[in-house]
Amino acid sequence: MEHQECANHSIECTVTQCQNHCGQENFCSLHKIKVGTHEKNPSMEQCTDCLSYVKK
Ligand code: SF4
Repeated sequence: MEHQECANHSIECTVTQCQNHCGQENFCSLHKIKVGTHEKNPSMEQCTDCLSYVKK
């Protein structure tokens, strides 16, 4: 996937290891993302995942 320069200030993100991370600022460069969970009954923030993550 091609790296995008534009930070989407509606999606703050600190996962700099993701291909979709803006780089200079802690924001995602996508227009929208999908969030999901790997748990049956998510009970804390660690139970949720960004499903739009792409390995760099
Ligand atoms: S796709 Fe998800 S993990 Fe990747 S930069 Fe955007 S919000 Fe962060």
